[in-house]
Amino acid sequence: MIAQALESPHLDPRRRGRDAGHAVVQRAGALKPAPFEYVRARSLDEALAALDGDGKILAGGQSLVPLLNMRLVRPARLVDINAVPGLDAVRARPDGGLDVGALVRHTDLLTSPLVQARAPLLAAAAAHVGHRAIRNRGTVGGSLAHADPAAELPAALLALDAGVVVAGRTGHRRLPLAELFVGLLTTSLAPDEILTGIEIPEARADGWGFAELARRAGDFAIAGVAAVVRGGPDRCTRARLVAFGADDRPVRLRAAEDAIVGRAASAELAARAAAEAPRDCRPSSDVHASAEYRAHLVRVLAEDAVRDAVGRLPA
Ligand SMILES: Cc1cc2nc3c(=O)[nH]c(=O)nc-3n(C[C@H](O)[C@H](O)[C@H](O)COP(=O)(O)OP(=O)(O)OC[C@H]3O[C@@H](n4cnc5c(N)ncnc54)[C@H](O)[C@@H]3O)c2cc1C
Repeated sequence: MIAQALESPHLDPRRRGRDAGHAVVQRAGALKPAPFEYVRARSLDEALAALDGDGKILAGGQSLVPLLNMRLVRPARLVDINAVPGLDAVRARPDGGLDVGALVRHTDLLTSPLVQARAPLLAAAAAHVGHRAIRNRGTVGGSLAHADPAAELPAALLALDAGVVVAGRTGHRRLPLAELFVGLLTTSLAPDEILTGIEIPEARADGWGFAELARRAGDFAIAGVAAVVRGGPDRCTRARLVAFGADDRPVRLRAAEDAIVGRAASAELAARAAAEAPRDCRPSSDVHASAEYRAHLVRVLAEDAVRDAVGRLPA
């Protein structure tokens, strides 16, 4: 329902803030949300119990509240998880990786020394999310669960080979991030499940790059690419390239990855990979860009991201 509503030419999901709200007010005469019950959960069990029936999780509210105000979603109950303990920390994993709680704010990714040391790509991606006020409230878990195909954090985390931890009535389950995204603004989470954390494997020796194009600083990207490359100057042993804003979900650029693995980290490598990059995405056209332009951007931005990633490989 949300996806259909967002396809309306009068309500472009990329036009956040005043313009989008204004359009809806004029068309529907509705400014504020439909009535809902509000529950502030104090524990994960309390949150899971409150989700029973027609409940919806409220995290940072930066994506959900506009949708509520435009009456594109009308849950019977909002389940606020901000007071659930233990979900807002960044922790070092013994294997050299990171555990990131679902309630970690975008701003925390920018300021955390652990993120800077162990997953600098994530910090670089967070810097492109909206404006400071949005980054102060918006959460990593909310960004993943909202599944906007143009969002930065899902792409960066997919490039980092992250997995997610999900809590449900019958316990916890873990799944690779690629299995979370199933389409435009759609995930494989059940309505009564809560994403509790993100697990990022060790990546300290990897080179990384991040490139996006947006109309203005703080806008959603028209398209972008996150890249992680492993190996030494003589031979790249692994590559994970992810495009965003170029399909209905963040997508691995596998042909471009194949063009990197096994080759020396030379100056031509980025151009070689970039030539293959558009093969794995299916961009669409909207008021901001045509599908052809987005495909062109994926090629250009993949070259930038791979060049930076290769440049950051250990000598
Ligand atoms: C003006 C503006 C500009 C923005 N620009 C960008 C941008 O450039 N790039 C970008 O990526 N984002 C952007 N955003 C969105 C912002 O990053 C949001 O913070 C993010 O998409 C959602 O996080 P949240 O914590 O606010 O989630 P909420 O809005 O609280 O929730 C979003 C959705 O996720 C669900 N949810 C939240 N947490 C969980 C959980 N733990 N488990 C299961 N489901 C959950 C909610 O039920 C809801 O459906 C922008 C937002 C605004 C208002």
